[in-house]
Amino acid sequence: MSWHLLGAGSLGSLWAARLSAAGHSVELILRNEQRLTDYLRAGGLQVRQGEQVQRHALPAGLASDPLPIRRLLLACKAYDATSAIARVATRLQPGSQVILLQNGLGSQQAVAELLPECQCICASSTEGAYRENDFQVVFAGQGHTWLGTSPTSPAPDWFGELASAGIPASWVDDIDARLWRKLALNCAINPLTVLHDCRNVGLRAHAAEVQMLCDELCRLLACCAPEAALGLHETVWQVIDATATNYSSMYQDVQQGRRTEIDYLLSHACRSAEQHGLTLPALNQLQQRLQHYLQQRGLPCR
Ligand code: NAP
Repeated sequence: MSWHLLGAGSLGSLWAARLSAAGHSVELILRNEQRLTDYLRAGGLQVRQGEQVQRHALPAGLASDPLPIRRLLLACKAYDATSAIARVATRLQPGSQVILLQNGLGSQQAVAELLPECQCICASSTEGAYRENDFQVVFAGQGHTWLGTSPTSPAPDWFGELASAGIPASWVDDIDARLWRKLALNCAINPLTVLHDCRNVGLRAHAAEVQMLCDELCRLLACCAPEAALGLHETVWQVIDATATNYSSMYQDVQQGRRTEIDYLLSHACRSAEQHGLTLPALNQLQQRLQHYLQQRGLPCR
């Protein structure tokens, strides 16, 4: 059975390249005729890891192609997920599987609602990749990917293909909690790095603000995914120290004038708090400050 990839960007290309190199059949679905022409002209995907550069001339087509899709890797940004999936919805069959690589929360649920007859599998990844150019990706950070469904289900029969392709992955029965944990870490770190214009380590100078956010995030997690609250404060500081000289992904998006995934991270947290009747002033104020900051720079605040 083929893997189809919708979202041949940073993370998606990493998956496609490794699966294909391991002998699995992978087909890219590109946005439109122009992107398909660009891709063919580029001669395929290029993945660079350190000094090593590999090219992968994978077959590619468009959403409008007629063949059914049994297994789809959706690797676009969270804000593109529903519009991208709508374009291939008629090609998905009852029982088709869709692996959702989006960060944050909210997009996975929106996609699942559009595809009631498919199995949606959520993923949370700590791998790092960025695009140097169109269809040229840099594998910047080794990591791990956790996959699972909500409610839980056994690992699919193809799961071993990931290990055979060198994609470090585990099938878990607590994917919601893992997504919440990652969302909370993101909320405690990324927006502040944007607002204070600093690398992650710069948050050491704003420790009280970070602590306050962690307090409120723990209260939110206690309602949404209690196991994800354990040791949150300590983990936030560990992440800050382990990535001290990095600029956060949100910081980089803002610097490069790219839309952020705020709506699926901080704003999702604020909306969830409201739904649970929680008053979380530091989190709400952070959201307002960040939205104002983005608006001033002409970037979407959703
Ligand atoms: P990215 O580099 O911006 O790639 C997204 C890709 O989706 C682009 O190639 C884009 O196509 C494509 N796309 C969007 N709408 C489409 C449509 N309708 N039809 C076809 N293609 C479409 O994004 P990314 O960094 O890989 O991130 C993807 C998700 O993974 C995000 O939620 C991110 O937070 C998460 N994540 C990323 C990393 C990482 O290191 N990059 C790590 C962990 C999690 P065009 O090229 O035509 O614009």
